Amino acid sequence: MSNQGLRPETVAAHALRAVDPETGAVVPPIHTSSTYARDENYAPKLKENYVRNGSPTLWQAEETIAALEGGTSALLFASGMAAIATLLETVPQGAHVAAPDVMYYGTRDWLKRLEGLGRISLTLFDPRAPGALEKAVRKGTDLVWIETPLNPTWDVIDIEAAAETAHEVGALLAVDATATAAVTTQPLKLGADIVFHSATKYLNGHSDVLAGVLVTRAETPRWSELRMLRTKMGAPLPPLECFLLMRGMRTLFVRYRQASANALAIARRFEGHPKVEGVLYPGLASHAGHAIAARQMRDGFGGMMSILVKGGFADAQRFCTRLKVIVPATSLGGVESLAEHRKTVEGPTSPVPDNLVRISVGIEHVDDLIGDIEQALAGL
Ligand SMILES: *Cc1c(COP(=O)(O)O)cnc(C)c1O
Repeated sequence: MSNQGLRPETVAAHALRAVDPETGAVVPPIHTSSTYARDENYAPKLKENYVRNGSPTLWQAEETIAALEGGTSALLFASGMAAIATLLETVPQGAHVAAPDVMYYGTRDWLKRLEGLGRISLTLFDPRAPGALEKAVRKGTDLVWIETPLNPTWDVIDIEAAAETAHEVGALLAVDATATAAVTTQPLKLGADIVFHSATKYLNGHSDVLAGVLVTRAETPRWSELRMLRTKMGAPLPPLECFLLMRGMRTLFVRYRQASANALAIARRFEGHPKVEGVLYPGLASHAGHAIAARQMRDGFGGMMSILVKGGFADAQRFCTRLKVIVPATSLGGVESLAEHRKTVEGPTSPVPDNLVRISVGIEHVDDLIGDIEQALAGL
């Protein structure tokens, strides 16, 4: 069945929509086979016959995500970092890459590693400084990598403006949209060339799958190279994970909307709280990126926020240990709320403030979450 003309909510809800022709099963079988037999003419039955190249369950998940993003094709990888590392592998030797200075630290570390090896030249720009991206790119820039909202400050980058800047110098714009999960923002429709998600997060939504995905606006030689690299580097998402991911995606929109509503209520409640120095959430009018977010995030500001507790490193850590409902764990985008002291995780060289606690707001009753944060702050 085709996703043609369907709204994203319907595409997601029908992520497993493929009535099995043999049994009529509404949930399709998972093809776990690593190899596929040839027919009586010795021709392969499928477009690929070895699981490292692809599998029916993988293709179904990829078609769903491509439709959600309004892209022509998607490639699922065994993790978000595998997808990012493979994309960066397509940057020509010695070419220039521009990226924000605050972003997902795994990506930043990998970019710096490539710079250190002399594989790429790198400019990290301050996404809050007006005109910084324009200054960071130059003729010959191959790739502009942005993330929005930016983890863990939730600063917002204008995707349309970034696409224009990148395209002026002939660079590709890739957007890490993990925090918006194809629900509120579709970067490809705003001019991005490639969108990335850590599907471990909102797309799956149940903290039980590791996966990453790239989606492209157009089939290009670079996209063919990416497909080849995924096969040769052995990084496709295995069939069981593809199935779990699709099952998670069926509830993407209801999960995301509930998390967004909860996060907005929490952000409003704790902004100005005597034990809180600040709340970073794009849905707050006080947030520097609010105006762009309001334009770019169609339906809710997401479930990701950070609280700057009054005090320093130790107070922020203590806040996390005092939480009883919100789980002190890394990751984000699951149905259960998680809190994390980012400086502990990112280490002393990270630019993240010492007193920042990142909260991935889940779909619990909001009063239980507010009560939990209240009691944890009261003990500081
Ligand atoms: C988690 C995350 C990644 C990395 O994805 P993995 O699936 O953990 O490899 C990249 N970007 C962002 C914004 C993330 O939150």
